Amino acid sequence: MTPEMTSCTHNTLVLLPEKKGRLQCRHCHLTISPEELGDSFCPECYEIHSEKRYDFNKLDAEDPGPARYRCEECGVIIFYKSPMNIPRQTLRND
Ligand SMILES: [Zn+2]
Ligand SMILES: [Zn+2]
Repeated sequence: MTPEMTSCTHNTLVLLPEKKGRLQCRHCHLTISPEELGDSFCPECYEIHSEKRYDFNKLDAEDPGPARYRCEECGVIIFYKSPMNIPRQTLRND
């Protein structure tokens, strides 16, 4: 089986949710990205206090960075600094 990633032209792009700010634990002030945290508890509090804490403040992102798109064909994540470069009709919200 040969993956067809190399032949993909990334025509079917899906706009991913904007990368919002990081999360900060209210107890130990660890900052962590929502992706890293998932639905889990604060790893720092758990390591130090063996307590599962779910209290987080949302920090605003100073620079949300480029918009992210995922190719539905091959699943690769693509960054575009200017979404204007992409034909609108190929985009839809996920
Ligand atoms: Zn692709
Ligand atoms: Zn914590």
